[in-house]
Amino acid sequence: MMTHANHYPGTVQLCVSCNEPTGRCKEDSIYLEPEFEHQSSLGPLCEECAEERITLANDHEQQEVTNEATNKIHHKTARL
Ligand SMILES: [Zn+2]
Repeated sequence: MMTHANHYPGTVQLCVSCNEPTGRCKEDSIYLEPEFEHQSSLGPLCEECAEERITLANDHEQQEVTNEATNKIHHKTARL
């Protein structure tokens, strides 16, 4: 009686990046925090895509992301 429920737990979450099932349920699904406050968080992601993105983010953190963030701060400051 339980086998069907175990195989298909209601809603299957699909990874927003690769469209594969994340293999996780709602409570422990992976969402990545946005780089900027006005962005929404990215997810749910499967573990593979989440790791990939975290690695990429760390690689670029000192370069483009920081530059972009700095530009936005300058822009805001200029308007004040
Ligand atoms: Zn994925």
